[in-house]
Amino acid sequence: MTTLGHLINGARVDRDGRTQDIYNPSTGEVAGQVSLASQATVEQAIAAAQAAFPAWRDTPPAKRARIMYRFKALLEQHTDEICRMIGQEHGKIVHDAKGELARGIENVEYACGAPELLKGEYSKNTGPSIDSWSEFQPLGVVAGITPFNFPAMVPLWMYPMAIACGNTFVLKPSERDPTATLFIAELALEAGLPAGVLNVVNGDKEAVDTLLDDARVQAVSFVGSTPIAETIYTRASANGKRCQALGGAKNHAIVMPDADMDNVVNSLNGAAFGSSGERCMALSVAVAVGDAAADALIAKMQSQMQTLRVGPFHDAENDFGPVITRAHQEKVCGYISSAEAEGAEIVVDGRGVQVPGFENGFFVGGTLIDRVTPDMTCYLEEIFGPVLLVVRVDSMEAAMQLIDDHEYGNGTCIYTRDGEAARYFSDHIQVGMVGINVPLPVPVSYHSFGGWKRSLFGDLSAYGPDAVRFYTKRKTVTQRWPSAGVREGAQFSFPS
Ligand code: NAD
Repeated sequence: MTTLGHLINGARVDRDGRTQDIYNPSTGEVAGQVSLASQATVEQAIAAAQAAFPAWRDTPPAKRARIMYRFKALLEQHTDEICRMIGQEHGKIVHDAKGELARGIENVEYACGAPELLKGEYSKNTGPSIDSWSEFQPLGVVAGITPFNFPAMVPLWMYPMAIACGNTFVLKPSERDPTATLFIAELALEAGLPAGVLNVVNGDKEAVDTLLDDARVQAVSFVGSTPIAETIYTRASANGKRCQALGGAKNHAIVMPDADMDNVVNSLNGAAFGSSGERCMALSVAVAVGDAAADALIAKMQSQMQTLRVGPFHDAENDFGPVITRAHQEKVCGYISSAEAEGAEIVVDGRGVQVPGFENGFFVGGTLIDRVTPDMTCYLEEIFGPVLLVVRVDSMEAAMQLIDDHEYGNGTCIYTRDGEAARYFSDHIQVGMVGINVPLPVPVSYHSFGGWKRSLFGDLSAYGPDAVRFYTKRKTVTQRWPSAGVREGAQFSFPS
């Protein structure tokens, strides 16, 4: 059985010490092992990144961007291989993995524009013979810590732009599905990144804590669950680092009485159950306004869910695959049981689903739960599984209040034909990413991605324009070249 190691200073470093099993969630079998980096190994990666920084910082942005162009071409060339690796360890269906990778490649494309994005600001004659400009300088060594659910896309939110801005990087991927992430990083080196500019350490808390505590690491980008995001943000900030920590979600869709119900049902099916609901933008709550809308929604969902296909990742006919681990399968089923015990109505039950030939896979079937109330555990917590809750309210105001009262504020959407209602909703709702008749309003790479409330700790969102700001620091220079013979006496008042 192979043990996946690390990528440090341009070379593979094999196992060091502790290891952890990697599963194939479709079969439930152990597919390999990953080495869990010790503090010394992580320090070696940080040292490599630190040593590579001066030359990389001084490499012209256009040269850095050219490597990103080659990286993009390599990612496209290796798409099938990468998606198979993702499917094998994550469980998502190959066509879903292709969507993830395409979204990651968009971020590489955006990083190709770094020379334009780093141009800075210039003002001539801010005073007599005085000019001022602001430039955006790289920070130094930057760390990224990423979750299991997008092993290709989320790392690509981070290091292409960080590196294109002149930083060097240490990535700590999820230990549950690290193979595709490491392979992609090797493609970045093949594209021409000098040794040490991008390093990957596989590992767990020990590796993360080392990155958070090492004074050579200037900034940390984190994506994962809220409790860990909060811990990471607190510790990195206390250590004087810049930090952005994106956390969990509970994304609500308001279904207004005038909505096109066929469109709603198609959208909810894909957005609630796609990728087994293991997306931070998955729609996990439908808030139906009025009992008529709720009854119509439930009836149509129930009938359409009969055609849902859950099964192994390699069968393109399947709609979604297994969840990530046996423990997570049990946790998701536990939420369904808690909803039942607390008085909700299980309309479609995904517990105990059997996939012939894959009896040991970590499958949960699509689940629909009606008459959920805001005090129930299944409503308060992020389930991260193929489970759609329906909450009934009697007005749009009540629906919006429900969303605003939830601790998470990642994504939301409204289904309506009423432009005025949609405009009011998007203007006032306390959520970072909003859809209007769009179920998964994931911003394109030239906008930025970030939730509000306890879905994001920090000031700047991921990728897009915010990433350029996050991975650089502004320096403002004021310069004076007085004409020959023009000399001022000493000035004791504040310059105006
Ligand atoms: P997770 O929080 O368990 O792990 C994320 C990363 O943190 C991993 O690299 C892991 O090794 C590390 N980690 C875990 N426990 C740690 C600890 N105690 N100390 C230090 N590091 C630790 O998240 P996950 O299960 O991999 O991913 C799913 C979660 O990520 C969900 O909550 C989902 O909503 C969230 N997510 C959010 C976004 C977003 O953009 N907001 C995107 C994707 C996923």
